[in-house]
Amino acid sequence: MATTGEKPGIGVYMCLICSQTIILFNGVETLPPCPKCHGSEFQP
Ligand SMILES: [Zn+2]
Repeated sequence: MATTGEKPGIGVYMCLICSQTIILFNGVETLPPCPKCHGSEFQP
């Protein structure tokens, strides 16, 4: 599980609430809040 504000690394993360996916392209980017439901927990 990855949370908003963490730097989980390159990969695709899916919102646990609405299944919206967020893609991180590098290892220094922090995980933003879900753009759709503002959720903060994601499944790698
Ligand atoms: Zn969401």
